[in-house]
Amino acid sequence: MPMSDCIFCQIAQGKIPSEMVYEDDQVIAFKDIHPLAPVHLLVIPKLHLRSLNDVTPEQEPLIAHLFGVIRRLASELNVADSGYRVVTNTGADGGQVVGHLHFHLLGGKALNAEIG
Ligand code: AMP
Ligand code: ZN
Repeated sequence: MPMSDCIFCQIAQGKIPSEMVYEDDQVIAFKDIHPLAPVHLLVIPKLHLRSLNDVTPEQEPLIAHLFGVIRRLASELNVADSGYRVVTNTGADGGQVVGHLHFHLLGGKALNAEIG
């Protein structure tokens, strides 16, 4: 059920414009509006899940599919060999700002080695 006040649900529904690079029945990928690297995509389930904390065991195949999409996009965008990072910020301490589960795909430059 899309949440009408969720910006990523609205992007998934095409109600807010985005630079979409991939779509299937379960997942979309679009360019981050404030890119931190030459490749900076957000890969999200169309289903509104607030964070990784919301994922039930029944939904784990969806997350596995999403990671397959990430891997293929990394290859298509030519960062598979040079390397890339996949990040999902979860909750306040994780720095999550948008409350719809999303995975950052970052690449195209040597990323800062610090994670925390
Ligand atoms: P976070 O919740 O901290 O993982 O980060 C949310 C990310 O969403 C940030 O990198 C924002 O630049 C990005 N973002 C927010 N609004 C939009 C939008 N309308 N289109 C694309 N990216 C967005
Ligand atoms: Zn949503």
